[in-house]
Amino acid sequence: MSTTQPTLKTGPAFPFDNSYARDLAGFYAPVLPTPVEAPALVKVNAALAELLGLDPADLATPEGVAVFAGLAVPEGAEPIALAYAGHQFGHFSPQLGDGRAILLGEVVGRDGLRRDIQLKGSGPTPFSRRGDGRAALGPVLREYIVSEAMAALGIPTTRALAAVTTGERVVRDRALPGGVLARVAASHIRIGTFQFFASRKAFDAVKQLADYTIARHYPDLAGAENPYLALLDGVIGRQAALVARWLCVGFIHGVMNTDNMSVSGETIDYGPCAFMDAYDPNTVFSSIDEMGRYAYGNQPDIAHWNLARFAECLIPIMGEDREAAIAAANAALGTFPARFYAAYHAGLAAKIGLPEAGEADVALAHDLLNVMIGSKADFTLTFRRLGALAEDEDAGEPVRDLFLDRAAFDAWAERWRARLAETGRSGADIRAGMDAVNPLFIPRNHLVEEVIAAAIERGDLGPFERLNTVLAHPYEEQPEFTAYAGLPPSMEGYRTFCGT
Ligand code: AMP
Ligand code: MG
Repeated sequence: MSTTQPTLKTGPAFPFDNSYARDLAGFYAPVLPTPVEAPALVKVNAALAELLGLDPADLATPEGVAVFAGLAVPEGAEPIALAYAGHQFGHFSPQLGDGRAILLGEVVGRDGLRRDIQLKGSGPTPFSRRGDGRAALGPVLREYIVSEAMAALGIPTTRALAAVTTGERVVRDRALPGGVLARVAASHIRIGTFQFFASRKAFDAVKQLADYTIARHYPDLAGAENPYLALLDGVIGRQAALVARWLCVGFIHGVMNTDNMSVSGETIDYGPCAFMDAYDPNTVFSSIDEMGRYAYGNQPDIAHWNLARFAECLIPIMGEDREAAIAAANAALGTFPARFYAAYHAGLAAKIGLPEAGEADVALAHDLLNVMIGSKADFTLTFRRLGALAEDEDAGEPVRDLFLDRAAFDAWAERWRARLAETGRSGADIRAGMDAVNPLFIPRNHLVEEVIAAAIERGDLGPFERLNTVLAHPYEEQPEFTAYAGLPPSMEGYRTFCGT
């Protein structure tokens, strides 16, 4: 680990205010990024920079690139690697931690929200174990694209402030160009952060972390009668809502280990994530998920399981009476299914133009999903094209064509149109509501792969730029970009890999 970088007195100013480093001594290891050989800028996210109160032009200067590449540390940064543990595919690892990521510090944005700025792929840390602390450019670009796409879809997520290439190679299954992602998050506190201390029976530390988490993410709960039970309840609520949002856009996280679930309720750690094309709840893309633990349709159950691990961390600090704490934690966990289904069903009903989510309407949405399974219908395009059909009953062909079993679709559509007619709303109104929740543009696997191939094989970042531009407006028609909304070529056997 290098300790030689200069603190940057000139160059981009970051108004750092580092509460984690200040308040949680012992929860991290101070460590400087390791400089890379020949950095070059891939992209600065100008809109995000401005939201954070940073100057995007400054970030794109050689001094800014030096910061992202670990050659220099900006004034006010206190680089640290965070300790955490976690259940990986159901098995507990007592020590994981930031093995290839370094938190530079926190800034409070123009919106008043505090966020972490972290470098991912910035060199080894005390938590690297046998890893090299580096990231390949492909996964950096994938995380940039998909996390920004999720933000544009309106789904809570970490974001991408910038990406650079390193001029170095990282050795994975082969030698690949390296990259560093500057990631922005509400925080990097994971369920696994709590597990790190709870598994060591360091309950004072669990309490300190819980107090910090409440102050940072759930300030309204500070005065609750039992703040730690309230924290559990709050995290349950946010994660139930989050997973419902994932399902409604066909998102598969891919590696929902407890160390990859943020207590702030943001989507975090875009490794083997992917969007589903044809609807099938058993869809799995991750090469290492051999049992389908993290399949699309399993995500709510896994979130629930992870939250039970979170509850286990908090029970020892919930009060003197352990039996009572367990009962209260179980009662809170028991609310997960109802909260998840409330959000998911509301989302599904809205997707077919019925924002009320009554029982019959939810059943109608489920009937469509079942027809889609049998017909291998594309998830995204089915709902988007239904919107056009809601407005114009002669616009049925495009959506109908997505179904192998057209008669099954026709039968369903007849019931659906009858139900829409009962609402008394105009077709244009219904369509506008549907278009606002059913994206036309998502980061489909083949699009992301094309971008990565162009960058890695030809050094061409044009496709990366264009895809980001398209995905910034996922719900809007963009006639010049219709090719990005098309059905994917058959991606039979497509696999994603962890960015390790
Ligand atoms: P992930 O599966 O990507 O969420 O990472 C799981 C754990 O492995 C975390 O503790 C990471 O910091 C660590 N890790 C992943 N890749 C590397 C790497 N290239 N070098 C060091 N640690 C890594
Ligand atoms: Mg992770």
